[in-house]
Amino acid sequence: MEFPKSKLIVISAPSGSGKTSIFKKAKAVLPNLVFSISYTTRQPRAGEINGVDYFFTDEHQFRKMIDGDQLLEWAEVYGNFYGTSKEFIERSQREGKIVVLDIDVQGAMQLKQLPDLDAIFVFFMPPSLEELSKRLVLRGTEDDASLRKRIDNAEHEMSFKDEYDYQIVNDQLEDAVDAFLKVIIYECHGLKSDEKNDMDDIVNSLKKAQIR
Ligand code: 5GP
Repeated sequence: MEFPKSKLIVISAPSGSGKTSIFKKAKAVLPNLVFSISYTTRQPRAGEINGVDYFFTDEHQFRKMIDGDQLLEWAEVYGNFYGTSKEFIERSQREGKIVVLDIDVQGAMQLKQLPDLDAIFVFFMPPSLEELSKRLVLRGTEDDASLRKRIDNAEHEMSFKDEYDYQIVNDQLEDAVDAFLKVIIYECHGLKSDEKNDMDDIVNSLKKAQIR
């Protein structure tokens, strides 16, 4: 099996942990971040675009990808299949991008079993389950049954948080974005040991550069 050439950032975040907002803001500061576009058999939600949010496919094609060893990992989540394309990662890394995988805990635990994979694991958490359920209701994308399933699953996923290298609580969005940026800079930009204490300065100057 071939492994991606440079460090991957693997993220798990229960639905409603605010990851979409965190990703958007982080990418505005570090434009060479790219979020891996997974394959899924789930139906597109309103506004989702094929090839942007996911590559939407059917179970037959998905199984062909598994058999052809085209997926770095895959899992069944909420009754649908989701998988990470090796080809997408390889292409992005050839372009010098830092690739972020947003996958569920089953997928992340599969990747942790691959000893030669250079990856760090980050878990995003809502401040509490009450807050998470409030955010999901506000988002308004799920019916009652799906909402219940996502809240139960979030509780289950949170029990894996200590398996991850970093845990980031999304209480205040800006703080969570800063914490995420620091992890990426620290892990992917090969800081010298005397620079590691200056993380706040580095993040602040990157943000200023983005505003200009
Ligand atoms: P959603 O349907 O809300 O977009 O995603 C549902 C769950 O599937 C999320 O926890 C998301 O992280 C996970 N997911 C998305 N893509 C992948 C993937 O390629 N592999 C795995 N294992 N999980 C994924």
